[in-house]
Amino acid sequence: MSSAKVASIPARPAYHREVTGSAHTTALEPAGARAPLPEEALDALVTVLDEVRHGHSRSRSELAARTGLGRAIVAARVAELVERGLVVEADVGPSTGGRPPRQLAFRADAGHVLVADLGATSIDVAVTSLDGRILGHHDEPARIEAGPEACLDRVDQLFDAVLRTTQGVPGALWGIGIGVPGPVEFGTGRPTSPPIMPGWDGYPIRERFSERYAAPVWVDNDVNLLALGEWRSGVAAGHDNVVVIKVGTGIGAGIISGGRIHRGAQGSAGDVGHIQVADDPTIICRCGNIGCLEALAGGAALGRAGERAAREGRSARLRVALDQHATVTAEDVARAASFGDPLAVALLQEAGRFVGSMLASVVNFFNPSLVVVGGGVANAPDQFLAAIRETVYRRSLPLATRDLLIQRSSLGGLAGVIGASSMVADQLFSRSSIAHWITAGDPSGSPEVALASPTAGAR
Ligand SMILES: [Zn+2]
Repeated sequence: MSSAKVASIPARPAYHREVTGSAHTTALEPAGARAPLPEEALDALVTVLDEVRHGHSRSRSELAARTGLGRAIVAARVAELVERGLVVEADVGPSTGGRPPRQLAFRADAGHVLVADLGATSIDVAVTSLDGRILGHHDEPARIEAGPEACLDRVDQLFDAVLRTTQGVPGALWGIGIGVPGPVEFGTGRPTSPPIMPGWDGYPIRERFSERYAAPVWVDNDVNLLALGEWRSGVAAGHDNVVVIKVGTGIGAGIISGGRIHRGAQGSAGDVGHIQVADDPTIICRCGNIGCLEALAGGAALGRAGERAAREGRSARLRVALDQHATVTAEDVARAASFGDPLAVALLQEAGRFVGSMLASVVNFFNPSLVVVGGGVANAPDQFLAAIRETVYRRSLPLATRDLLIQRSSLGGLAGVIGASSMVADQLFSRSSIAHWITAGDPSGSPEVALASPTAGAR
């Protein structure tokens, strides 16, 4: 299947055409379309779908118990979702006597999602099912500073390639999710003054993709996507209050608050890299301030410190890295530390303490039950995470750390694309989006659905 085909033929799965005779259908509607649901029916439909989609409820009785909805309402909404092809009821193996047990399941293959996670130095693309399962994936080095036209042209090519090489991509294209390494105004999908993305400020990423693919498009920063990925499919599943910190070239945090991603009024929540952690006037950050966390503990800072040590003859292993490629990167420092190089270990521990002292303030302020540490530098040996833990527990208030867990990211390099797919699903199945597309049967061919999603147009 090529994406050109996806764009030109907004194919509906056959079940939409076959469905007839529903109590809600009237003779005046076009074939395939459904009657709009009354408001309260829509509320219950979204509640029931969320329960089934996230695997919290697998039967009508579980749904009734967990949602507080009456049994008759649950039964009606389940029937509606089955009829609309969003939920299936399947036998689940041998029963212990009597009728075989049947379980409700989200129909994750009703359509597919295309996602791209653009980093400072890489592009990751994937095609996924509607529950974030990766069906096809490709990653390659890229430079975000090449600008939006070059980078997004390449994403188009990679979308084509991944669709072509993936067997059995299900259904039509239901949505597109894009992650970028800088702040994004979520309502419009445009980067806002991104520091490491020259040429991207205000670029209409959503419009660019929705024109070609005729599908709803959402854009967010890479750290929020890391947080969503860990929350929906990774180590943060089941936690309602989580801070996910990404320590890569820069440093940022994604926040899950009260069971929702918290993006803030302008979408810049979690920009913790520019919190001041030292008052040394010689440490000047690229933002112009002094003593920022990122200027002391980010990947670029770690590489610079490693290079200085190599030049001054304080680390034989880093000297080898310097001689090999004329510079020292954060990855070189992490690798040297994993071989026990004392100077590299000391650099990582120092960076970990700076990250920990910032996190201690965040933990006191926000009281999460889990802190997840991800990003390139977080793949470093245990000393980095140990230094973070030690500092957070020493400097936070006892009540805030009593049940606090601090863990490494669990999804590795796939967290960004898994998170982007989760973002698309959460937006597609939000109440305001569903209200927009449920009558048509599915959201394929309806780019305007992105404008109906909850935080769109917040400004
Ligand atoms: Zn700064």
